[in-house]
Amino acid sequence: MAVTNSINISTLYARLNQMGLSKNFVRENGLPEWWTEECETLPDATITAAAYISRRFNLEFQSLITPESQPTFQQFTKTCYKKVDHHVLPEISIASHLGRRVAELVVKTYTKEYQPIAGITAYQIREEIINLGKVVNLETLLNFCGKYGIPVFHFARFPKTVKKFYGMVTDCISKPVVVIGLQDLSPSRLAFILAHELGHIALNHLKAGETINDEEIKLDDVQNNDECAANEFAIELLLGKSDQVYYFPQSMKAESLALSAREKAKRDHNDPGAIAWNYGWYKKNRFGVARKAVNLIEKNENAPKMINQQLSQLLDWDCLSEDNQEYLALALKLDGDKVGG
Ligand SMILES: [Zn+2]
Repeated sequence: MAVTNSINISTLYARLNQMGLSKNFVRENGLPEWWTEECETLPDATITAAAYISRRFNLEFQSLITPESQPTFQQFTKTCYKKVDHHVLPEISIASHLGRRVAELVVKTYTKEYQPIAGITAYQIREEIINLGKVVNLETLLNFCGKYGIPVFHFARFPKTVKKFYGMVTDCISKPVVVIGLQDLSPSRLAFILAHELGHIALNHLKAGETINDEEIKLDDVQNNDECAANEFAIELLLGKSDQVYYFPQSMKAESLALSAREKAKRDHNDPGAIAWNYGWYKKNRFGVARKAVNLIEKNENAPKMINQQLSQLLDWDCLSEDNQEYLALALKLDGDKVGG
């Protein structure tokens, strides 16, 4: 069916580019794998492309093809952007919208029922993990989330120019979903973000239909009460006390920090990576040494992969359309052949 009153494909790309979604990004993420230059010469190319792009990115279909309108995201929920100055840049909302769309697909396929954790304390979660003979780290926190039916995924397929987020928690069909957006291979670094987002859920910060977007998570210079509370929750969960700070001599080399973190971890039943990061939490100039020490402790870990592989075991891919399967596998960087039906 030819639609006459619509824009051509170049105009569609130009409009998307104007809002921060470059042609390359759209070709790689917004359109199916089989899409080629040749498809764009067909009479209904714009309509077909717009249908895929709108579904994958949560953009309103009509807004993509109507000559006089601008691409508009479908309004999903109220988003609270946790920024010091409360000034929300449109680029952040793009990352948030893209993350939220993937969250919707994840929730549709997620097989576990949610058991509400609002009101649970960091101490209780920690005890539950320690009673299993484990320490609190990314893996055991993911297991906890799996048990309570809280989907957690890593998503960082954003256009280069948009402002990204460290973490996000969104209430999606009455279920909290945690999205980790920081591109970092360190399990202990991402564990902190996960623990912080769990804090937002447990402390009842997330209201029905809301999204909390953490553009950055800082331990110093935090002016928002909810952010402080979520940080304290995360520190208690990971290290045992909400004000836990490990003592280290003023200046350390990465090798000795790694060694010392391992000793303290053994003594306190904590994750050595979390202790090494603790060295750099409150002093920016220590971040590089903390990073090196963590690399020595964690070696060749790939935290984003760990998160998404664990998630994929809890997904029923068959309930998604073929294109949704393809996009979800792309978004989660999972091998399409292994996950698709
Ligand atoms: Zn937060």
